[in-house]
Amino acid sequence: MAALGGRGRVAAALLLRRGPPPGLAPGPRRHRYKEKWAATAPRIPPTRLALHHFDTNYSLQLKDLWPSVRIGLLCEQKYGALMNNFSSAEHVSQELELLNATDFVSEAPQKAQVAAVEEAERGESRSQEGSGKGRAVMQAETTTQAEMSPPLCASIHSNIKCYTFPRGDITRFRPARPDALGLLDYYLLDAASLLPVLALNVQPGDCVLDLCAAPGGKTLALLQTGLCGHLAANDVSVSRTKRLCQVLQSYVPKEIRETVSVTSYDGRDWQQVEGGTFHKVLVDVPCTTDRHSVMENENNIFHKMRTKERQMLPMLQLQLLMAGILATKPGGEVVYSTCSLSPLQNEYVMERAVEIAASQFNIGVRAEDLSHFRTLFQDTFSFFSECRLGELVLPHLTANFGPIYFCKLRRL
Ligand code: SAM
Repeated sequence: MAALGGRGRVAAALLLRRGPPPGLAPGPRRHRYKEKWAATAPRIPPTRLALHHFDTNYSLQLKDLWPSVRIGLLCEQKYGALMNNFSSAEHVSQELELLNATDFVSEAPQKAQVAAVEEAERGESRSQEGSGKGRAVMQAETTTQAEMSPPLCASIHSNIKCYTFPRGDITRFRPARPDALGLLDYYLLDAASLLPVLALNVQPGDCVLDLCAAPGGKTLALLQTGLCGHLAANDVSVSRTKRLCQVLQSYVPKEIRETVSVTSYDGRDWQQVEGGTFHKVLVDVPCTTDRHSVMENENNIFHKMRTKERQMLPMLQLQLLMAGILATKPGGEVVYSTCSLSPLQNEYVMERAVEIAASQFNIGVRAEDLSHFRTLFQDTFSFFSECRLGELVLPHLTANFGPIYFCKLRRL
């Protein structure tokens, strides 16, 4: 974004130097030049512009990883099936398990524990090659490492179930089916988009705000926990809010739907609606939606006409995150997420928000360590190991989820 911002400014300066628009131009020569330019200039599709932009920026950020992430972005994305706990459809889990799909959420702790034991055993065998004293110390470490650390245990108390096919298996899920009451049995989504919801770690009775909620995948996941005392789902777009309501109607019984308040405010103004009252706030912001940007020309943020909007994204994201922080009670937690690899839309926004909360609002916020997510879900997702504050899921041909960035702040 920085390069493009700079390039954008240069382009704007060049445009200004080109003089007045054709109709107002002083002489015919300039007019002829303009017409020729317009007729012969190649129309570069937004997907190509996006890929070029990513090649320039992400190759610097991801270095040797970029070619494999790039191929992942350009290939078919993998889905997960978020099980609908409100549906009475039977045998859906068994049906998926017969196809070799597993619930990545419930299986994660066991897998992480096995990995920890194996790692500890490898360490032990290394120590046997060393002194007897070293061996005793390593045996003690083996026991400790094999036990799960508190964050590993804490993050698994969730009723969210999501089936995925194993690494390298590109089987597709059948479309969702209704039960006797018309509620669909599962919701297909990028399985990595559940990680921000899991990071929110909703506790019984929590008052939860989903600030940018439409079309509603994460709102539905929040409801699947069965723990929200109250859920406010907001999105500035009226048409997308309608889609959110349709999703709720297709998946959630009426009595639960009635506990969700759906609104269409500009999230940046949330403070005026309801400030400082939520235990948990999810801020899943609009972003460059990297996968969509390289694959679909329709509604593409890299369209030339949307350059300004794209350049302003980090500012909008920062304002939304600030609104999320202000909506949180002291002691409460905010999870920020995007589906972009861009550090300017991810870590930079987080860092600026922490500074602004302190300097302009006198609010202390602390970034929470989410590195246990990498341990827990390493079998399902490919994580980038070099984020400073949050976690980033990288697309990879064998596990083609993401990109998803998520980071958690605690209001002090
Ligand atoms: N959380 C959603 C889900 O899981 O289905 C996806 C959210 S999408 C990444 C970002 C959303 O932010 C869009 O639906 C967009 O309409 C909304 N949005 C954009 N600007 C907003 C604003 N100022 N206030 C609230 N929502 C906004």
